[in-house]
Amino acid sequence: MTEEKQERKMSVLVAEDDKVSRMTLSACLQGWGYQVIAVENGRQALEALTQEAGPRLALLDWEMPEMDGTEVCMRIRSLSGLPFRYLIVLTGRQSEDDIVMALAKGGDDYITKPWTPGELRARLGVGQRMVQLHEQLEEHARQLALAAQTDYLTQIWNRSSVLKRLEEELARARRENIPLTVLMLDVDHFKRVNDTHGHSAGDDVLKEVSNRLRHGCRPYDVVGRYGGEEFLAVVPEAPYETAESLAQRFREQVAATPMIADGASISVTVSIGGAWLAAGGQTDAEILVKTADTMLYRAKESGRNRVEMCPL
Ligand code: GH3
Ligand code: MG
Ligand code: MG
Ligand code: MG
Repeated sequence: MTEEKQERKMSVLVAEDDKVSRMTLSACLQGWGYQVIAVENGRQALEALTQEAGPRLALLDWEMPEMDGTEVCMRIRSLSGLPFRYLIVLTGRQSEDDIVMALAKGGDDYITKPWTPGELRARLGVGQRMVQLHEQLEEHARQLALAAQTDYLTQIWNRSSVLKRLEEELARARRENIPLTVLMLDVDHFKRVNDTHGHSAGDDVLKEVSNRLRHGCRPYDVVGRYGGEEFLAVVPEAPYETAESLAQRFREQVAATPMIADGASISVTVSIGGAWLAAGGQTDAEILVKTADTMLYRAKESGRNRVEMCPL
């Protein structure tokens, strides 16, 4: 059912310079439920196939003006970063040498003219299965890449990705001459939460802290889990007072209401240390993090549930 639905939607490029052949092919494919994009030369075929959302399945005539079908195959294969294309060379050439050459140049399949509807349809079906398989692989790769950047417990950025984002934002701050703030947040007396309510309740608290931090900031702020019960926030562009208010808002949102964890109601607070880099300021990510950490230590020393910030 789903396959049938996808079959109807899949678009196929038909590149054929002979008008009658092009129209016959197009009508046939449309009859089988494909969406057809018809072009009359190799250059147009290449243009369509190199577009990100271009057709993934193509029937390419060999002899065409401007660029032949095998040249199109070769160029497509030489491009990196393009989604997979399944390329069928459809030609009157029938010698073994020609078949070998077309496949060697990057064709996935080869059909000789005059074609028969049964074979053409079956071979398009093979192409469609290959395209669908590639789409599944691409989706899988996307999910893996996302999982590698995400903290498994809280589903926010993990340590390595938040540090990478910090490097990127620092580079942007330099480029655009804007300020940048790094906040280090640590749950107060978290060991007691675990000791009193158990590790699983502790996990629930960490998830809820993450939620509140994520919802407490602007879409372009970055919040990640730096380690156990420590979080790192990267706040671009904010003037000192704005960054400090954001830190206070983080602190208030964690403290505001108890967290429901493993059936218990648990009140927690966070201490926050911040390093604020003025526009045009020169430093590196390591110093920013170190400074935020030193300020966090000061917030802890001064009684916890506090914000301590320092301009650089
Ligand atoms: P402080 O206010 O000085 O930060 O005190 P604290 O108790 O929060 O700090 P400490 O570093 O002594 O304890 C942190 C605790 O966090 C100890 C560790 O078992 C716990 N922890 C770290 N990661 C996790 C986690 O993923 N889940 C749970 N439940 N606990 C964790
Ligand atoms: Mg031709
Ligand atoms: Mg800690
Ligand atoms: Mg702590």
